Amino acid sequence: MKVSFKQAFLLHKRALKLLSGRVRQLFPSYTIYCLVSALVPYAGIWFSARIIDELAGQRREEVLWKLVLIAIVATAVLTLATDALHHWKMARRATMFQYLRKIYADKIMSMDYCVLDNPKTHEQYASIRENDWFAGWGLTRVIFFYEDGLGALFRILGAIMLTVSLFTIPVPEAAGKFAILGSPVFVPIVIALLFGVTLLEPLCNNKADQYWTKNEEAGRLSDRLVHAFGFLPLRAPKNADFRIYNQQNICKHYNDMNRNYMPGGTMANYAKGPMGLLRALAAAIAVLFIGLVYVFVCLKASTGAFGVGSVTQYIGAITALSQGLSQLLSACSEMRVNGMHLRTVFEFLDKPNQMLQGEREVPDKKKGYQIEFRDVSFRYPGAETDALSHVSLTFSAGEKLALVGRNGSGKTTFIKLLCRLYDPTEGAIYLNGVDIKEYDYTSYLAIFSVVFQDFQLFGFPLGQNIAAGYEYDKEMAEACIEQAGFTERLKTLPKGLKTHLYTILDKEGVELSGGEAQKVAIARALYKDSSVMVLDEPTAALDPLAESDIYTRFNQMVSGKSAIYISHRLSSCRFCDRIAVFSAGEMVQYGTHDQLVNEDGHYGELWKAQAQYYVSN
Ligand code: ADP
Repeated sequence: MKVSFKQAFLLHKRALKLLSGRVRQLFPSYTIYCLVSALVPYAGIWFSARIIDELAGQRREEVLWKLVLIAIVATAVLTLATDALHHWKMARRATMFQYLRKIYADKIMSMDYCVLDNPKTHEQYASIRENDWFAGWGLTRVIFFYEDGLGALFRILGAIMLTVSLFTIPVPEAAGKFAILGSPVFVPIVIALLFGVTLLEPLCNNKADQYWTKNEEAGRLSDRLVHAFGFLPLRAPKNADFRIYNQQNICKHYNDMNRNYMPGGTMANYAKGPMGLLRALAAAIAVLFIGLVYVFVCLKASTGAFGVGSVTQYIGAITALSQGLSQLLSACSEMRVNGMHLRTVFEFLDKPNQMLQGEREVPDKKKGYQIEFRDVSFRYPGAETDALSHVSLTFSAGEKLALVGRNGSGKTTFIKLLCRLYDPTEGAIYLNGVDIKEYDYTSYLAIFSVVFQDFQLFGFPLGQNIAAGYEYDKEMAEACIEQAGFTERLKTLPKGLKTHLYTILDKEGVELSGGEAQKVAIARALYKDSSVMVLDEPTAALDPLAESDIYTRFNQMVSGKSAIYISHRLSSCRFCDRIAVFSAGEMVQYGTHDQLVNEDGHYGELWKAQAQYYVSN
């Protein structure tokens, strides 16, 4: 859907405000640069005209010297000032590019997780990024419009000032039939021509630009293909799957498919055909107009109304006026196109934050927490079935709960609801009898330490990874490492806790195996020292001995705290106070191991299926 000129203007105004709030001196640098750089050509035009007039007239030596000297000094000062201002402006612009990324990063970090996880949000952000990358549409363009628009305005003002006398200077009586050139009727004629050209030229250029828009969908697919497949080998140089499955052949196939911007491709054909013709027409109209201006100015000069120097001044000024008007008009019409992109940008940046509504203080952890799921159902946005259906359970401070079930049965979803990454679609979750939505979100999150299945560690030093912060308590970090069973490996690290994980920031950084990384993630969860520890299949990458070791240590660690474990290995669940068994989003059993193993049900089946491999003679 198109946006009106007014909407586009307001969107740009808002974007300018956003940028100027983030990037210091962005606007002063652009504004002063536009003003001074608009003056440069006019200084040249004005002084040249005076010098030529003097040369063609009285040829007074001292006047010529003076004019030349002033012209050189003025041009030199203005050029130097423009260069210095250009430098200032470019430095601010470079900063702006950094801040642009930060605007999106800040939004993504503060966005409700459920909104971020929604495929529609991904699609929207991908389209913002692709349009920016593709042609700078969106926030990046705003500053270019400001520069173009303001530059054009200053240029128009300067040109008008230098052109007014062309119409006001009277034609001498002796001009005969050319006396008509002094008639005021030429003012509206030249102005009409000027506006005609000004409108027609950008109109042709805009029509030509529409071929880019026409190709936008295909262009985005091309960009995605290039991004997804063109750089794949560079992004994952050590990817073993690449070698085994000869992935490069598939990548090549998809890249070869992408003929959109190649010679003989869609855009090349547009350029050879209608798009090229429209651009040529735009250029021809502009040249024709200048030709007419030459005829008018030269004829009026031939009547003796003004000297030959003024001819250069008027022609230069009217040409600049026409260019300034075209530039202003192009900027205005492009602004409407960019308005559509900005609307998407602001839809993304304005996504409301539902999670932050609660203000109630979370109870003191010394009191202990009781958590209750009351008839909770949940469906992921866009999904056709519930991932969790009518789940009710209560668990109290200090208890250990195991979640068991086949893949896709809803265990991780249960954890995500508990940690309020999502809110239930039906039912509610209570902490000490109060709906968790009523609590202050940040302090509610502080209750939990979670080791997700797809946890992430970062390329900072080990100690900072564990503390999830720049400063950390060395002894505490080491104690957590000990509890997570990573101490032996720590001893082999060249700089101990200061060793970087991975080699992104330090070439002496270390690579960790899946199991080692998992231990570090567990140590990080321990360091947070929250009231409720959640381990989502944390031991999947650990060997059986390491797993048994971790569970024993963990039990000691979390003694007195609440803990929730998700594990496929039922032997690890035996020590839990309660076991909740999930199947297809429903909680089908709930009880202790001894109860459930003897019941006729899912748990018994899973237990027997696993136990048969361990029954020995
Ligand atoms: P488990 O942890 O038991 O393996 P999950 O809770 O991850 O199961 O998934 C439960 C169901 O929800 C599955 O059918 C899964 O495909 C679906 N699901 C999980 N995450 C999402 C998501 N972000 N969007 C849509 N569906 C999802």
